[in-house]
Amino acid sequence: MEKCSLLLTAPPLVVLLVTALNPGDADPQRLPSNLTTSPTLKTAEAAAGAHPTAGGRAEGKKEEHLDCPPLGLESLRVDDSQIRASSSQRSGLGPQRGRLNIQSGIQDGDLYDGAWCAQFKDRQQWLEVDAVHPTLFTGVILQGRNSIWSWDWVETYKVQLSNDSVGWQTCMNGTTEMIFKGNRDPETPVLGLLPTPTVARFIRINPQSWFSNGSICLRAEVLGCRLQDPADRFEHDPLSKDDLDFRHHSYMEMRKLMKSVRDECANITRIYTIGRSYMGLKLYVMEFSDNPGKHELGEPEFRYVAGMHGNEALGRELLLNLMQFLCKEYLKGNQRVVRLVTETRIHLLPSMNPDGYEAAYEKGSELAGWADGRYNFEGIDLNHNFPDLNNIMWDAQEKAADASKVPNHYIPIPEYYTREDATVAPETRAVISWMQDIPFVLSANLHGGELVITYPFDCTRDWAPQENTPTADDTFFRWLASVYASTHLVLSNPDRRVCHYEDFQTHKNIINGGAWHTVPGSMNDFSYLHTNCLEVTVELSCDKFPHASELPAEWENNKESLLVYLEQVHRGIKGVVRDKVSKQGIADAIIKVDGHAHDIRSAADGDFWRLLNPGEYKVVVWAKGYFPSMRRCRVGMEPRPTICDFTLTEIPAQRLKEIQAKGGRVPQDHQLRVRALRLRKLRASTKAINRRREKQQLQTRRAS
Ligand SMILES: [Zn+2]
Repeated sequence: MEKCSLLLTAPPLVVLLVTALNPGDADPQRLPSNLTTSPTLKTAEAAAGAHPTAGGRAEGKKEEHLDCPPLGLESLRVDDSQIRASSSQRSGLGPQRGRLNIQSGIQDGDLYDGAWCAQFKDRQQWLEVDAVHPTLFTGVILQGRNSIWSWDWVETYKVQLSNDSVGWQTCMNGTTEMIFKGNRDPETPVLGLLPTPTVARFIRINPQSWFSNGSICLRAEVLGCRLQDPADRFEHDPLSKDDLDFRHHSYMEMRKLMKSVRDECANITRIYTIGRSYMGLKLYVMEFSDNPGKHELGEPEFRYVAGMHGNEALGRELLLNLMQFLCKEYLKGNQRVVRLVTETRIHLLPSMNPDGYEAAYEKGSELAGWADGRYNFEGIDLNHNFPDLNNIMWDAQEKAADASKVPNHYIPIPEYYTREDATVAPETRAVISWMQDIPFVLSANLHGGELVITYPFDCTRDWAPQENTPTADDTFFRWLASVYASTHLVLSNPDRRVCHYEDFQTHKNIINGGAWHTVPGSMNDFSYLHTNCLEVTVELSCDKFPHASELPAEWENNKESLLVYLEQVHRGIKGVVRDKVSKQGIADAIIKVDGHAHDIRSAADGDFWRLLNPGEYKVVVWAKGYFPSMRRCRVGMEPRPTICDFTLTEIPAQRLKEIQAKGGRVPQDHQLRVRALRLRKLRASTKAINRRREKQQLQTRRAS
């Protein structure tokens, strides 16, 4: 029997794993009263007064171990002051950097390096975590140093535990000290389970051997269940009051949950699919509307997209939470939600890259590492996979005699992109097609691994690695980003610690995408230049794949932000462009706002939405075959759009002939035709690829 402590003579203590996980149900009378001052460490068996048995129970124990959540070195629940070390190479490699998945800064030697590294190369080095409360420690997760310059990791280590950080006991393997297996590379997290879960307050990781060409460097997470102490029985974690399904959902579980929401709120929901992943998983969307399945005249369309990087799992769960929340609150008659659902058509795509998610989910929230599951099955980063329309537009502007005449919106997909052999993921193809089917007005793209909101453009000019690259709607984008950032409970906390190495507090937690790092082919830039939809990226949390126990708190952190951001779709001006005589709506009319070098188009029924900050605007509407029309529209401070309808007069056929006879050109909507044609080609090639892949997959299945 392997165990950490053999002190079975310790006074019996009642330690209940389940109780420790669920403080609300604890019975304080049955719990230890003075664990912090207890002179000896207790194993789970000793604590329960049971005798340890060998053999058969080992497997069952493993699952028990994993039931204890991470203390939160990665999630930052563990504060810098709780982590100490024997020595450090320098402050940038100090103990506060010894957190699982922490990323190093680009400059070597700055304050933000990619691990804790000991100053000396001997076996006396340790990283210590103070859990503050008596904790049933169950395991340690170790990772090497994140660096582009050097390779360092710990290959074996010992674990020591203490109640007072003075007297230490080493985890034993029978009569010898337990040697845990560590890393073989810098990035893969490796779990080391304590032979026997043990109660203590302090834990030390004590490296014994390390990569021979490197130093003692590590990033870690500690698993443990906090014990109940009568002294803090009134102190509860900020769990959510909302009764939602807070856990990570596999593809099948996600589907089941979405179906249950649809059944519960059949009148206001619809599930549809926009395509399939490379491995054939459906990309499900949940729609909320008082008339599901239909576009209603004047009602704006909104989307949230999550999980384009499959391992950034929080967005997926937040959208599943949001579905349940909208449904429950609508049924309860929550006026804010009723209004949202009645006046908006909301589309939620919780998993844009389900293949990637499944890969990360299989490893689990702590062991997926930083990149497993980020890409789609073919290894494509979906956020670099959209057509780069920025450079097409910028090149055209440079060549043009009058740059203001170059189209600044609805830019068609380039020809090469529509080919069957183009490197375009099925997930990207599905989203592009979706973006053209529905006249979206506003969107957010949910990511993870940082805490910041970024807004377009993501792509910089001339391949600059970092350069502020604003759109014509910069002020509104900054407003949108600020709305999310200022209502998010962690982002809005001025005392929060930086996630990795960048301090976004100095930017008020929002930043232009290009100013952060250039991304050609991002979904946000594409959405802006190819459709009417404004989209920002939300980096939801430092931890890409938070442990399930963090999900209620993360919902609370994001709940107001998700709702208030959604409400921004009701800003600026909206209206309908109609034919003066027939009163019919005019589709694809161009809406130009004076001073904004970005136009938008009316939808199929002639309705349009132009998101704008408060102010007075000169708006010109133009449609093929009509005289242009101009109006002044004022946007106030109130959170609803100004109605700004347009009526256009058709240019008589006789007048057109006269213009042409004089050699004048009748303006043609060439761009619109090309855009439609390229989409048809993209859809055709997608169909052909899908057929081929389905056939292949069928053959492989038959063969195996
Ligand atoms: Zn991402």
